[in-house]
Amino acid sequence: MGIPTVAVISMGGTISCAPGDDGRALVPRTDAADVISGDSVDGVEVRSVQWSLSDSSEITFNELIRLAREIRRQAADGADAVVVTQGTDSLEESAYALSLLRPLDRPVVCTGAMRAPTAPGSDAASNLRAAIATALHPELAQSSAGAVVVMNDEIHSAKWVQKHHTQRVDAFTSTDRGPLGVLYEGRPRFLRQDPPPSLPALLDRETGRHVRVALLTAVLDQDTALIEAVARSGYHGLVIEGMGGGHVSGVVARALGALARDIPVVYASRSRAGAVLERTYGSPGAELDLIDRGAVPAGELPALKARVLLTMLLRSGFSRREAEALLRREAHAGTR
Ligand code: ASP
Repeated sequence: MGIPTVAVISMGGTISCAPGDDGRALVPRTDAADVISGDSVDGVEVRSVQWSLSDSSEITFNELIRLAREIRRQAADGADAVVVTQGTDSLEESAYALSLLRPLDRPVVCTGAMRAPTAPGSDAASNLRAAIATALHPELAQSSAGAVVVMNDEIHSAKWVQKHHTQRVDAFTSTDRGPLGVLYEGRPRFLRQDPPPSLPALLDRETGRHVRVALLTAVLDQDTALIEAVARSGYHGLVIEGMGGGHVSGVVARALGALARDIPVVYASRSRAGAVLERTYGSPGAELDLIDRGAVPAGELPALKARVLLTMLLRSGFSRREAEALLRREAHAGTR
């Protein structure tokens, strides 16, 4: 057997940043694989693939579909594993989209950096090395996670990981669960396995349909103007990030109920940790009212993940009812 090949697909973000022409402000300008070029990654051939040089706020669902196809192409072209590098700001969303697309029968590994390669104490090279080591680890191949995120010597399931800090190198955490694994002395050690995927690989069902799902947050003294704007603006679904267990005011609940007659409405929690309630409170706008009005609970999925999931399901040709049922199943998969 020859030495293993890992394709590193570079999509910009801090891990690819260097000072721009003004010599100060950082802009994406290099392949992520450059941060480890010159160093040897023991016994691994790193195949560097430049995909884009952008901030992660520019990534679109259509781009992620094309990326998933490229990941398959790299594997067909002999790559034993694939690492994707991108900006950390949208990493919790795009990694989950890749996880649902499941382009390979082994997880795709996503990483980035909180400190640019030129910054003191940069985590760029260490994160990329950790991602490559994880991508080749035999136990990862057995993992049912469609994608994992490796940051700060931790391996997280793409489904549960969230960016919880704007600047620190330990910005990524999986609340309630913790990481799937950790790296000790550069070697992955797995702590637990995720349950098998609840959905088929959505890349095989991708229709190219352009789907827009809005995300709104419940706030104190809220009016319904933005919810009515969602109805008028041709969105295909709405995720509402409710208060605490997923609650909104009675006025907002009525507007959501009217919207749910036409498009799927999913409620998550702006607390970003813990499952939304489904059977406790009966006030107007509480979960029992929302469910009566046709809203679907997001389980433990934070709103950002629920929006990715609803978008991907609707793109995959499922009917509204099928998409809602599958969303419920995926949102509750992983709790026993
Ligand atoms: N704004 C950058 C991006 O998300 C930050 C980062 O890479 O962490 O692309």
